[in-house]
Amino acid sequence: MVTTADASTHQATSLFEDAQARFDEAADALRLNPNVRGVLREPRRELTVHFPVERDDGSIEVFTGYRIQHNLARGPAKGGIRYHPEVTLDEVKALAMLMTWKCAVVQIPYGGAKGAVICNPKEMSLRELERMTRRYTTEISILIGPESDIAAPDVNTNAQTMAWMMDTISMHQGYSVPGVVTGKPLSIGGSEGRTDATGRGVVYCIQEAAKLVKLDLRDARIAVQGFGKVGGATVRLLHELGCKIVAVSDMSGAVFRGDGVEPTLALRQQQETGSLVGTPRTERISNEDLLRLDCDVLVPAALEGVLRADNAGGVKAKIVAEGANGPTTPEADAMLREQGTLVIPDILCNAGGVTVSYFEWVQDREEFFWTLEEINARLRRIMTRAFEDTARIAREHDVELRKAAYMLAVGRVAEATLTRGIYP
Ligand code: GLU
Repeated sequence: MVTTADASTHQATSLFEDAQARFDEAADALRLNPNVRGVLREPRRELTVHFPVERDDGSIEVFTGYRIQHNLARGPAKGGIRYHPEVTLDEVKALAMLMTWKCAVVQIPYGGAKGAVICNPKEMSLRELERMTRRYTTEISILIGPESDIAAPDVNTNAQTMAWMMDTISMHQGYSVPGVVTGKPLSIGGSEGRTDATGRGVVYCIQEAAKLVKLDLRDARIAVQGFGKVGGATVRLLHELGCKIVAVSDMSGAVFRGDGVEPTLALRQQQETGSLVGTPRTERISNEDLLRLDCDVLVPAALEGVLRADNAGGVKAKIVAEGANGPTTPEADAMLREQGTLVIPDILCNAGGVTVSYFEWVQDREEFFWTLEEINARLRRIMTRAFEDTARIAREHDVELRKAAYMLAVGRVAEATLTRGIYP
């Protein structure tokens, strides 16, 4: 029954069922054509692969991986690859569906996909990770490609992983195929600004949300769960805006300082010791304490299912900005709504990453690269417009931002599906 990536969290229903329930709510509100509803409720393609990889000691281990394409109505499938020991097919299906809605909310011309390998990258050498990545890429090469399905980093994967994937597909083709993955290193067709893009998008959303609740972000108190690709950039950029990062956490625990944790000290501590705990001038708190801190903005930027029925009642933040995918269960959502907390939903809040992935793919196709200033300006325009579109629907229909974002996204994907018609 536990289907979240974090074994310490508990879900009453599966993540995919939760995703379908949120879709159903939006479909009801839109009075969606029942035929289209049936199409959008299920993933289009589900690929499971089992493949052998040689470990450094010469033994052979068989790994299981997935690539799910949820929808292709608005363009090629798009979504990240996750490496995690507890990842499940159910979770990947849910995350692929979220990608469809995310791309539609920010109006980039993609459908949704997600991939994963069940593995513990923390216990693998770099060479083992490379061999596993290359073989997994080969196994899913029947689905991925620059015109059909474009991969990207997600939990525990990074620019190096994307470089191996790009090289593997390129070796099969006999020429470079940079557009098959995004989030690549700059030296092989990556984009300026991609590394920070998700965090930057989270910050743009927080700035818009702050206007709605009349919160002055200068000296605002922020708690961030996660200090990886998303949380790390979010912390740094909010600190630059003058916010106080009162708490931040990684897998080893959370640290607190009422006057604000110094991000550079936290980063140094993490790089030198592998853990945030012990960052100078901070005190250690638990990850659960962090979620319940007295603060203005809470940013869950780690894994799914962290805000649940058993702890959402303790959230004191005015704004919850979902940097992670699926951090709030539907029960927690209802409680936060009741408490008057403004939740910026994942499919809007963390869409900055896939938006700059889109910029990267466009630049690769044109073989013409943009400056960081151009990228950040375009990202801001897209995120701000998506936020405004969502907030307008929320106002007009008197619903919370998540339902509004789903209505916006599902409406767009349904329109594309109806316009294309059913084949044959
Ligand atoms: N993994 C990221 C996400 O969940 C980025 C996906 C992408 O860039 O394709 O949004």
